[in-house]
Amino acid sequence: MKLRMNLTELRCEYCGAELTEDNIYVRVIDGKEHHFCCSHCADAYERKGHSACY
Ligand SMILES: [Zn+2]
Repeated sequence: MKLRMNLTELRCEYCGAELTEDNIYVRVIDGKEHHFCCSHCADAYERKGHSACY
């Protein structure tokens, strides 16, 4: 069975780049899946979102 995901409107949550099945980078932050184009965006997003905590 194939992973069922609607990728048509999926964009990197940090930089807004369009994501495809080939370049998608998923990271679970606070128990929720977030989608990015690369680990750098995931790192930056995570830092931004938690800047007050660290
Ligand atoms: Zn990005």
